[in-house]
Amino acid sequence: MANSEYEYVKREFEFDRRLPPSNWIVVRIDGCHFHRFSKIHAFEKPNDKNALRLMNDCATAMLKKFPDIVFAYGVSDEYSFVFREETEFYHRRESKILSLCVSYFTSVYVMKWKDFFPNKELKEPPYFDARAVCYPNLKTIRDYLAWRQVDCHINNQYNTCFWMLVKSGKSEQEAQLALKGTFAKDKNELLAQQFQINYDDEPAIFRKGSSVYREKVETTVKIDDYKNPIKRPQLKITVAHVDIIGPEFWEIHQDILRE
Ligand code: ATP
Ligand code: ATP
Ligand code: MG
Ligand code: MG
Ligand code: MG
Ligand code: MG
Repeated sequence: MANSEYEYVKREFEFDRRLPPSNWIVVRIDGCHFHRFSKIHAFEKPNDKNALRLMNDCATAMLKKFPDIVFAYGVSDEYSFVFREETEFYHRRESKILSLCVSYFTSVYVMKWKDFFPNKELKEPPYFDARAVCYPNLKTIRDYLAWRQVDCHINNQYNTCFWMLVKSGKSEQEAQLALKGTFAKDKNELLAQQFQINYDDEPAIFRKGSSVYREKVETTVKIDDYKNPIKRPQLKITVAHVDIIGPEFWEIHQDILRE
């Protein structure tokens, strides 16, 4: 309560870190011990589509809940949320932003679990960690997102090879050894020659990760007296599995990261 003799414990001991103004704020969350979590819930390896779709649905819920999130990018058990450069969300207080994001995401994950895994009991509570990083200009925020997508590509290519080798009878140790020191080209050749897989034909959700953003779409809002549809542009949240490293995506979607 205000003005009690104990009030000094707040005044003198609590310190709020405010994230610097005029920076995009990225909150990245990552599943804790999801190596284990994915094992005990028998996720398909290397990529369980339902688990990825559940993550994407949680990210969509985040954009609905927090309008200042302009873009999200997810892969595996992680998601990055980009807040617009001039956001005044909780006066840019770091602990508020982080704790709200990670707790809301986690709650939605638990609530929606049964929609994606109707026949799988949630055996232990999933939990996520979170960090916030600030990027001062368009180049650095674009490079941040490119860094995550390059990581997605490298990991997915490795994991695709690794699990094909394991599923063909190799031990995990043997598969690891077979891939040691190989380059991207070698991995593509291994997939083509041993398993008749063209890496580029793998689902885009695995290769490109998931991008979530708002898009203007013409929606029919009503039908007039002459049975003509009346259309208005409305913002719709879109999930896409596309390249965000090159300039093309950002040229088409210039509104997303406007400085
Ligand atoms: P930490 O707590 O340090 O993050 P972690 O076990 O979560 O540890 P990560 O580096 O975050 O390790 O890796 C995520 C793990 O979760 C990987 O082992 C990955 O195989 C698994 N995983 C996450 N999502 C999926 C999915 N959709 N399908 C299959 N496996 C998944
Ligand atoms: P903020 O988001 O700023 O925290 P708040 O609505 O959560 O807003 P608090 O000051 O945290 O506001 O107050 C918690 C509110 O939740 C109070 O209105 C209180 O009546 C209600 N509440 C919490 N726990 C209980 C409970 N066990 N029984 C009845 N009401 C509760
Ligand atoms: Mg993790
Ligand atoms: Mg991870
Ligand atoms: Mg409260
Ligand atoms: Mg700036």
